[in-house]
Amino acid sequence: MRTKEEYLQGLKKMKRNLYHNGEKIDRDDPEQIPALNVMGVTFDAAYDPETADLCTATSHLTGEKINRFCHVHQTTEDLHKKQDMTRTLCRKVGYCIQRCMGIDAINALNAVSYEADRANKGATEYHQNFKKWLEYFQTNDLVGSCAQTDVKGERLKRPAQQTDPDAYVHVVERKSDGIVVRGCKLHISEASIADEILVVPTRALGPDEKDYAVAFALPADYDGIKQVVSIHNFRQRKHIKRGFDAGYTDSYVIFDDVFVPWERVFLCGENDHGGLCALLFALFHRHSYSGCKPAIGDVLLGAAALAAEINGIEKTSHIRTLLAEIIKVTELGYAAGFTASALGKPEVIIPGMGSVPYGPGGMIPNSIYANVGRCLTGEAVFHEQEILCDIAGGVPATFPYEGDLVSSELKPLLDKYLTRNPKIPVDEQVKFWLYFAEMTCSSLAGVLNYGNYHGGGSPIMEQIAITSQYDIKLRKNLLKALAGIRPLAPGEVTAK
Ligand SMILES: Cc1cc2nc3c(=O)[nH]c(=O)nc-3n(C[C@H](O)[C@H](O)[C@H](O)COP(=O)(O)OP(=O)(O)OC[C@H]3O[C@@H](n4cnc5c(N)ncnc54)[C@H](O)[C@@H]3O)c2cc1C
Repeated sequence: MRTKEEYLQGLKKMKRNLYHNGEKIDRDDPEQIPALNVMGVTFDAAYDPETADLCTATSHLTGEKINRFCHVHQTTEDLHKKQDMTRTLCRKVGYCIQRCMGIDAINALNAVSYEADRANKGATEYHQNFKKWLEYFQTNDLVGSCAQTDVKGERLKRPAQQTDPDAYVHVVERKSDGIVVRGCKLHISEASIADEILVVPTRALGPDEKDYAVAFALPADYDGIKQVVSIHNFRQRKHIKRGFDAGYTDSYVIFDDVFVPWERVFLCGENDHGGLCALLFALFHRHSYSGCKPAIGDVLLGAAALAAEINGIEKTSHIRTLLAEIIKVTELGYAAGFTASALGKPEVIIPGMGSVPYGPGGMIPNSIYANVGRCLTGEAVFHEQEILCDIAGGVPATFPYEGDLVSSELKPLLDKYLTRNPKIPVDEQVKFWLYFAEMTCSSLAGVLNYGNYHGGGSPIMEQIAITSQYDIKLRKNLLKALAGIRPLAPGEVTAK
């Protein structure tokens, strides 16, 4: 396992393919430091006695101890630990821990590469390629980002119907030693600080869309890849320090006719498995949200409760109602993820076929519970912000800048007029509102809300997954039996 320092040294050796605001930047550009702080926690936590058990695992390939973010879940206990690791580390940094895209993509690809080979009756070697690559990934403790979301062009047209065929990443040439791919993936979190980019399809694909059924992994600085990076940081502070400086980056990852050698190709042309790959990455990722969204709920609840205390309204009945709303969403989201972990199996639900074995045995969370949990927490994102806004009043929107708060001329006056609760030292109130304003009322907060809402698929995508996979017919039959239309068939009353 690497240390944070070794990870940072590795990034320094990478080629310059990051574009930001009209300039090429290095991986360790000062703007990227807050994002590197967050990613660094995933390395430190593997060595911290308090978190080492959660954050490490035993590789099923080598038997070696590895960072859990590089692990393929072998048991339901692994799924529980991934969920708890995610919640724990997100609590440390206050928001997203960033490394989940990699673990979710490797778990999806482990299953899909195996099944595609099985369907091809040995004519392809995707799973062999994947396992070899995964061993390299695990042994070197690499950071993976997952590039799934395509440009998608005209939303109501399928990939093969698009005016511009490059609206979805696709294969433009097949060669004896590899393939050439073209297209662009959007909003790819932490690709600018990742070692590897894992590419998977976005959606279900038809037989005329085989070129779009492509999955592979490439170093994030590979020839032909350009990253146009947006960076989201808190306002810089000189005097009044935060407990943790977090930041995030997202890239447009452009594949400008990029050659991918066969040994890094994990799927190429199997449209059915391409669709399943999209579904499976989304499933693993929605399960990760049952760790991160509860942690964000923990932080939001702390903010809401402290704002109420500082405003002196914590004993009023409407505050109890508002705090209870945050707690309900947080813990129901966690409970759904916990159940998805507990009911995990090496199976996927295929509409019309039910739950069928899938992959070489890696554990897959239960899809219904992973989807309902993610949908519930995603839909609550803006309502939770509304609760914080309600409790805070206008103070976060117009809070004085740091320079004024420490100015010898203004500090005594501002301390006097910023004091709301005389029982709490004013310096604490100031630190609290500065952070509260950043997490609710800043450009970073806006980006995080969009990520929390859309990441892993917008709520509409979870609604589609839930309603297409849930056994609605069974529920109709229950109603028919109760209404006296027809009796229940054997097994129906106990079926899930
Ligand atoms: C901060 C952030 C980080 C992210 N990180 C990642 C990442 O690391 N990796 C990654 O792969 N993705 C990432 N995403 C992308 C995320 O998964 C997508 O934003 C999400 O899946 C929604 O897709 P979209 O943005 O293309 O929106 P769209 O799909 O365009 O949705 C816009 C609207 O159009 C509607 N719509 C779209 N298609 C149809 C249709 N066919 N019929 C009817 N209505 C339609 C939708 O319902 C919605 O109302 C990230 C997003 C954000 C905001």
